[in-house]
Amino acid sequence: MTEFDAFYFEEKFYINGTKEYTLGSILEKYLQKSFKGVKDKLGCCKEYLRLLHYPETRTQMADCEYIFTEAVSFFDRAEEYIHALPPYNSFPLRDSGLYDIINRHSVLFEIDDNEIEHEWFDYDKFDSYDDYNEDDDRGTVYHEPMYEHDRMLTSFSPGDPLDEMDDPDMIDEVLKLNAELKDFIYHYITLFEDLLRVKRVYEPFLEKIHSREEFLTNEEIAEMLDEFNSEANKKLNPYDKLIPSGTMTLSYKVLKRKKTSVLCENYHFSTIGGFLYIELFKGLQHRYLPRKCDYCGRYFVLERGFYSNYCKRPVKGQPDKTCRDLGHRKKFNDKLKTDPIWNVYHKGYKAHYARYLKKKMTQAEFQKWADYAIVLRNKALEGEIEYDEYVREMKK
Ligand SMILES: [Zn+2]
Repeated sequence: MTEFDAFYFEEKFYINGTKEYTLGSILEKYLQKSFKGVKDKLGCCKEYLRLLHYPETRTQMADCEYIFTEAVSFFDRAEEYIHALPPYNSFPLRDSGLYDIINRHSVLFEIDDNEIEHEWFDYDKFDSYDDYNEDDDRGTVYHEPMYEHDRMLTSFSPGDPLDEMDDPDMIDEVLKLNAELKDFIYHYITLFEDLLRVKRVYEPFLEKIHSREEFLTNEEIAEMLDEFNSEANKKLNPYDKLIPSGTMTLSYKVLKRKKTSVLCENYHFSTIGGFLYIELFKGLQHRYLPRKCDYCGRYFVLERGFYSNYCKRPVKGQPDKTCRDLGHRKKFNDKLKTDPIWNVYHKGYKAHYARYLKKKMTQAEFQKWADYAIVLRNKALEGEIEYDEYVREMKK
């Protein structure tokens, strides 16, 4: 269903050993989504936990057909929903598998006689019945012809309700079906909880991590994580906590690339929630982290070595400029407008630059002043000198 393998090598990973991604890029795509309606989908799953089972009483029989049909369609749509998201969008689209589960227990359901006539074992495929049975070393292997429960159901009309059954084998079959249905629904509950966690946990956690506008040390991350978890862990729902889901197993594999072979960490994830958790923490470790651009508001992946508040997407209407170009300028202009210390610095800088242009200052003198002005500005920002004194010094 949602399981897959990821092979990690430095800041890259390969899903199922083939499609290449950069660390943080799938988490970025998830953060970009609003996931509207996921809470309702989770609600529906929880409702099916109560409704989707073999009818216990004759009164429950009436709704069975409707509930089972609706459930197959709901979970097939859920499968389509997840299939639109990476890495699943590179996999072939499948049905949810609910129809197959019910069919494995089709002995519990009534089958239309006309259908049986029509779909009964097709002898025409074989020249004779004997051809259908194979010979091997130990003699002839006799295949059983298909029985009713080997065929696919076209509707879900149950036989007797559970409380009227007296055949222990049939009761056992009901219990097995119900257990499989529960496991199946829980799988989708986990999936929708994993999606809800992106907006409710990953986004605020990353905002906290980026609040200092720089890459953090391991110690600083540890401190922030502790602080974040102490709040999140007070909450009741698993989708409000920074936790993985499902199971992950780690092994080491050699992955064959076009020309070389690379030794990779091979994680097998049973859920997307497990994958996103590793994506976040590997991103923190390798400094490949999604961040919201302060200029366009969209997510991008920060790459190791250079921290920026802005992405490198071209700005709408100005294709030769990126958010990074305009963002830094806007931030500087905003500072000049709102912060008198920056404003005084900027005026002083312009005045001294004009002196240099008029050759009233040598380049060396101007450079010396410019270095001094930065020291002065930083002192003023830290409150180490009085504002009036700062203004006087800048004007000199
Ligand atoms: Zn941007």
